[in-house]
Amino acid sequence: MAQTQAKTVKGTAPHGTGASESGNGRILEVQNPATGQTIARVPAIGTDDVAELAARARAAQPGWEALGFEGRAKVLKRAQKWTTDNADRIARTIISETGKTYEDAQLAEISYAAQAFGFWAKNAEDYLADEKVRSTSPFVAGRKLFVRYAPVGVVGVIGPWNYPLTNSFGDCIPALAAGNSVVLKPSEVTPLTSLLMAEMLEECGLPKDVFGVVTGRGEAGAELVDHVDFIMFTGSTATGKKVAERAARTLTPVGLELGGKDPMIVLADADLQKAANAATYYAMQNGGQTCISVERVYVEEPVYDEFVQLVTEKVGKLRQGVPTKPGNVDVGAVTFAPQVEIVDAHVKDAVAKGAKVTVGGHRREGAGRFYEPTVLTGVDHSMQCMTDETFGPTLPVMKVRDAEQALELANDSDYGLQASVWTKDTAKGEQIAKRIDAGVANVNEHQINYLAMEIPMGGWKSSGLGTRHGPDGIRKYTRKQASVITKYGLKREIFMFPYSGWSAKLIGGVSKLLYGRGKRP
Ligand code: NDP
Repeated sequence: MAQTQAKTVKGTAPHGTGASESGNGRILEVQNPATGQTIARVPAIGTDDVAELAARARAAQPGWEALGFEGRAKVLKRAQKWTTDNADRIARTIISETGKTYEDAQLAEISYAAQAFGFWAKNAEDYLADEKVRSTSPFVAGRKLFVRYAPVGVVGVIGPWNYPLTNSFGDCIPALAAGNSVVLKPSEVTPLTSLLMAEMLEECGLPKDVFGVVTGRGEAGAELVDHVDFIMFTGSTATGKKVAERAARTLTPVGLELGGKDPMIVLADADLQKAANAATYYAMQNGGQTCISVERVYVEEPVYDEFVQLVTEKVGKLRQGVPTKPGNVDVGAVTFAPQVEIVDAHVKDAVAKGAKVTVGGHRREGAGRFYEPTVLTGVDHSMQCMTDETFGPTLPVMKVRDAEQALELANDSDYGLQASVWTKDTAKGEQIAKRIDAGVANVNEHQINYLAMEIPMGGWKSSGLGTRHGPDGIRKYTRKQASVITKYGLKREIFMFPYSGWSAKLIGGVSKLLYGRGKRP
C-alpha cells in the first residue's frame, strides 16, 4: 500500500513547488514513519524561490478573481469529483508520508476535503455577498450603504504534519473560493499530499500560478509571511507566536490554529460505555496526533474505577502496526520523529510522580516509529501529561470530587481549543460546557463538530486567533470595503463651509432631539 520507491519530485511546474531546478542544492527526504523507508525526495525551496512563487501568484490573482464565484465554483466542483475518483491514490500518498491508518486518512482527510470543495463552492457567494446596511444616522438618510468583501490578494497557508490534506490544503479551499491566489507551505515532513493536490488542481483547470506549493523547511515558512496579504497558520503555539511576530512587521493579518490540551469531563450519570468508547477513539484516532484529541479526562469519583476498567480494556484491544490495507490496524505510526520523545517523556514524568500505567507505556522497538496506546491513572496537574500537549496515543484519567472540580481543572490550562462534557442530563451538560474556556465545548460529542462546516472552529487563549469554517472561515480571507452611495443629494450639505451659527444650532437641536430625551438613568 505505501510507496516504497524513493523518487525525486521536480518542482518547476506551474502548480509545483516553484523551486529552481537545483532547489538551491537542497533536498527534503520524505520518510514513511511506519517503515522508516525513504519514499521520496523533493527540493527544499530557498527563500528567493518563495518570493518568486508569491510574485507569480500575485500576477495570476486578478484573472482568478475575475472568473467570479460561478467560474471558481466550477473548478472546485471538478476538484471534488477528482478527490472522490482518486480517493485511493490520495489515501496511499497520505498514509505513506504520515504512517496513519487507511480509516484515519479516509474520514478526517479525504471525506473532509471532498465535502469542503462542495461546501465552499456552494456557500462562498452567500457568505461574501455585498451586505446592505441600514444606519440610524440622519446624515446618511436616503443614501445606499453597503459592505463589500474583496479578496486580500495572495494568501499564504502554512500547515502541520498531522493532517497534510485537511489542515494544510483544507484551508486553501475557502481562500481560493474567495478569489485569492494561494501559496501553501506544508510541513517538510509531509510535502507529498500538497504536491498531489497541486497536480489535481492543474488537471481540474485552475489557472496557472493561482496555487503554488513551497516544499521547504521552517525558514521557507517564515519567508512566506513577508510576501503575502494574509497568513493562515496551523501548527504549534510556539511557532504560531513566531509567525504572528513576523507578520506584525508588515501588518499582515493572521489566522492561527494552534495546539490544544483538550479535556473530557465524565459525570457520574454519563452513559459510561459511550463515554469510554469516545475517550478511546478520540484519544487514539490518528495515533493521538490531532489538535482536538482527548488529551486528558476528568471522571467523577463514583464512576472512576468502572471508567478506568472500560478504557483499559478497550485501549488494550487496539491493534497497532504498519497500515497496509483498510482494517488491518487501528492505530498507526508517530509521524514526526521528535514526537516519540515527547510522548515517552510525558509517560515517564507521570510514572516518576506516582501515576500508574494500566495498559501500554512503551515505545515499540524495530523499524518505524510507534508508541503503544497507553492509559495513565492516578494523574494530577503536577504532571506534564495533564498540562502540556502530548500529541500521541495516551489517555490520562484523573479522579475528581465533582463537576465543579472538573471544571476548575479543565480551565487550568493555557490552551482552550476544544472540550466535551459527558452526562445523560444534557441541560446540566450545557451549563457546564458554557463555563469551559474553549472555542468548542460539546456535550456527549467530542470532535464531530469539525465535520459541520457551518459552525466555527478555533481556539481561545494560546490555542489560536480566529476561526475556520462558517462565514468567518472565508471572510477572514477578504478585506471589508464600506461604501456610501449618494444618488440624490444637496449641492451643499448643511454642515459644510461656510460655517454659520444657524447650522450649529440646527445640528445641536437635532442631536438633542434624537439623543437627549428622557431622564438620566
Ligand atoms: P510546527 O509549529 O512545528 O510547524 C507548523 C508549520 O510551521 C510547519 O510547516 C513548519 O515547517 C512551519 N514552520 C516552522 N518554523 C516556522 C517559522 N519560523 N515561520 C513560519 N513557519 C514555520 O507544528 P507541527 O507541524 O509540529 O504540528 C503539530 C502542532 O499543530 C500541534 O501543536 C497541533 O496541536 C497543532 N495543530 C493545530 C490544529 C488546529 O486546528 N488548531 C490542527 C492541527 C495541528 P517545518 O515542518 O518544515 O519545520
